Amino acid sequence: MWHETLSLILNSVSSAFIPDLCLLCGSENLTGSTSVCNECRTSLRWVTPPICEVCGKPLTKLEDENSTVCGACLSSPPAYDMARYGLYYEKSVRAAITRFKFNAFLYSSRPLAEFLIEAFDRYYVDGNFDVILPVPVHKRRLMTRGFNQAVILSRKLSKATGIPLDRTSLIKTRNTEPQARLSRSQRLSNLTNAFQVKNGNSMSQKRVLLVDDVSTTGATITEVAKVLQTAGANYVGALILALRTRDGSINPKQEDIVYS
Ligand SMILES: [Zn+2]
Ligand SMILES: [Zn+2]
Repeated sequence: MWHETLSLILNSVSSAFIPDLCLLCGSENLTGSTSVCNECRTSLRWVTPPICEVCGKPLTKLEDENSTVCGACLSSPPAYDMARYGLYYEKSVRAAITRFKFNAFLYSSRPLAEFLIEAFDRYYVDGNFDVILPVPVHKRRLMTRGFNQAVILSRKLSKATGIPLDRTSLIKTRNTEPQARLSRSQRLSNLTNAFQVKNGNSMSQKRVLLVDDVSTTGATITEVAKVLQTAGANYVGALILALRTRDGSINPKQEDIVYS
């Protein structure tokens, strides 16, 4: 298994040194400064137009012919101004996120951050954001996992874009059920009053970019956006690394259910 081999190699070297292996498949065929081989790169499936200009999800054929906004956003506009997704949560992307998040294989954050930055460049390069806010996890989850994957990805995005990272203003006040385990309506109520902005109106007049790793319904960013609007945010954009489609959420693997 390449994964065990790669883990073994990486665990035996300094964390400052990343060997020339593709961090998605373990192949040695790396070119340039990227951490992903050509084969993996061409197999990536990006969330591409036609997408809803508000929530960023793919439009159905019928929606695409009639509007640039999806039916869900037309009937119930979300609290955020705009959301965009990078890749579909499948195959090597899903495997890399799983290794990163649940097995603490932090090397996976490198290609994942590269993908996030690519998605940022595609959608938000003229966003004039004042701050990047990672979607927080509850402190109890932080204690068991040891890190918040959204913070690690956001830090790299902040470094690449120069937009300041704020990892303390937004907090999760309730340790909620993992979203992947719930139905659509449960997902929304599960998160009610789960987030809080410290210092009342500290987001006043700010253009905020929310960052998260995976989303299915967008319920989390919707709930966080409400809190940010209340705290005075002027604009809330969201950038999510991976979109989990309905099919993928019907029978999620055990690690997704337990910790997502
Ligand atoms: Zn590869
Ligand atoms: Zn939409």
